[in-house]
Amino acid sequence: MQHIIDRFISYVTVDTESDPNSDTTPSTAKQWDLANKLVDELKAIGLDDVTIDENAYIMATLPSNVAHDVPVIGFVSHFDTTPDFTGANIKPQIIENYDGGDIILNADQNIVLSPGYFKDLLQYKGQTLITTDGTTLLGADDKAGITEIVTAMEYLIKHPEIKHGKIRIGFTPDEEIGRGAHKFDVAKFGADWAYTMDGSQIGELEYENFNAAGAKITIKGKSVHPGYAKGKMINSMLIANKFISSLPKEEVPEHTSGYEGFFHVTGITGSIEESVVQLIIRDHDSKKFAKRKKLIKKITDKLNRKFEKQFGGDIITAEVKDQYYNMKEKVEPVFHIIDIAEQAMKDLDIKPLIKPIRGGTDGCQLSYMGLPCPNIFAGGHNFHGKYEYVPVESMKKATDVIVRIAELTALPK
Ligand SMILES: [Zn+2]
Repeated sequence: MQHIIDRFISYVTVDTESDPNSDTTPSTAKQWDLANKLVDELKAIGLDDVTIDENAYIMATLPSNVAHDVPVIGFVSHFDTTPDFTGANIKPQIIENYDGGDIILNADQNIVLSPGYFKDLLQYKGQTLITTDGTTLLGADDKAGITEIVTAMEYLIKHPEIKHGKIRIGFTPDEEIGRGAHKFDVAKFGADWAYTMDGSQIGELEYENFNAAGAKITIKGKSVHPGYAKGKMINSMLIANKFISSLPKEEVPEHTSGYEGFFHVTGITGSIEESVVQLIIRDHDSKKFAKRKKLIKKITDKLNRKFEKQFGGDIITAEVKDQYYNMKEKVEPVFHIIDIAEQAMKDLDIKPLIKPIRGGTDGCQLSYMGLPCPNIFAGGHNFHGKYEYVPVESMKKATDVIVRIAELTALPK
């Protein structure tokens, strides 16, 4: 356990915040600091073919130690942290034998991690928690995943009596800004399938995510002196408002859960002359997803028709762009990859929590690039903020799951 703690802390104390406003890969130069350190470490523990490319994508191999043919499997994590909250000067705190009470993260600023608000804490009573000092995020997303993969590989190298096939590992930059998979060389990785170790609570196993699209609605207006505006002015902001109120009111993130999809207005800018409404569309079901996109077009057409006489011609344009798709479609034909992960958890007395992701992962992009890639828990909670924490026992269990998946995959048929 101390080994896992030390390794995890050596990663989270390196600042690797990514930046959506940068066009380079990695998006921030500081991500190289941890990337280079990881390369050295992977070589030191004895992995083969340790490579890092010009975009800081790291790959390495643990060779098979069995004579029969075994599928090549992979494990993937990202080493950047979200730009939503600062990841500089992280000072992790270690709470041993957690008593189930409030954890004072920062006495000066009165920042408390309380099970009264974060009920999940209570399931870790008696365990060792790693928290922040209340001023930064922790970076368990996803340095817990990296810790688990490296530790599992090291364990397999030290325990050659555990039989496994060829294993590939991949660490990526820029997942948090949606680009973790963009420059991932799936052919070079060469695995039959892989798992991202990037979920939250112990037991999580995810292979369904949203279908996602973004829409940009542009409304053209006409500015005229308000004193002489009758029949002449088009106030694009008021039409933008009509557009938004034509969307189904209950189908928004704050009123939906599970498999319920939504429309989510993410931004409005407006003047009389022009208004722009940005929104995202999400649904697990591909038919409902298509229907949602159609509704955007329907509302646009309807409002254009309504104002056509008055203003002549279309004043609203809707650009809808697909962003990513549900990986379920790519995972279902190879469902044994879920069965193996589920079996591995059951063998280790972990209750599998299989549920749809209300978002996307690197794995869903990788799945559409030809590498089926479900997501497994990495153990952390409250990602992207100062209340982020991870139980060390969960990281240990995730490490065991990796080892067990390697073992199960190599069992002779
Ligand atoms: Zn993550």
